[in-house]
Amino acid sequence: MKTLGLIGGMSWESTIPYYRIINEAVKERLGGLHSARIILYSVDFAEIEACQSAGDWGRCADIMAEAAVKLQLAGADYIVICTNTMHKVVPEMLTKLQIPIIHIADAAAAALKKQGIRKAALLGTKYTMTQDFYKQRLVDNGIEVVVPEAGDIDIVNHVIYNELCRGEIREASRRQYAEIIGKLKKAGAEGVILGCTEIGLLVRAEDSVLPVFDTTVIHAARAAEMALED
Ligand code: GLU
Repeated sequence: MKTLGLIGGMSWESTIPYYRIINEAVKERLGGLHSARIILYSVDFAEIEACQSAGDWGRCADIMAEAAVKLQLAGADYIVICTNTMHKVVPEMLTKLQIPIIHIADAAAAALKKQGIRKAALLGTKYTMTQDFYKQRLVDNGIEVVVPEAGDIDIVNHVIYNELCRGEIREASRRQYAEIIGKLKKAGAEGVILGCTEIGLLVRAEDSVLPVFDTTVIHAARAAEMALED
């Protein structure tokens, strides 16, 4: 079994499911007392969020690359970044690494294609929904992407940073997300990517009129699969 190097803490609320899902997958595959080989580097999210909102992506890249290099030195075979947004700095990280990063958007695209979905709605932080680093990766993988209208982008983003990343799950926000997903369905989306690792804590399959693709679940499952590949 390979060793997974997780960069977590963005937020720590969503890192917990990663640890559980990866271990469950390894247990299911290998049985008995087997569990995953994991090294976790958990960052201080306040520092990350401050760099993001200041637009200091260079500093974000430095923090992430430093974490990844430490995981590599500690014996990780693969890097798993437990957030969608910080995949923005993957190109910079790769220049410092000899080991691969298991990309969350590639895992999401593969899961969509497996279900025959070609046009997907994307919910995530404002960076993920409005910038190209993530959407383009999906497009390159053959997925057409629909994002919410401007006002809804603000709502989705606000709920992520002010509620979900703080461990607050509010019914009113769940309803707002459900309404937004409804509009995206009308815009032609065949499925919805929960492209922020906390959204799965709020939106369940039964809250959505579209099939839900939770990137936390998909990414963690993909990581476990790669750890177990021959
Ligand atoms: N966990 C979120 C994501 O998947 C947002 C936190 C962050 O800004 O990294 O994008």
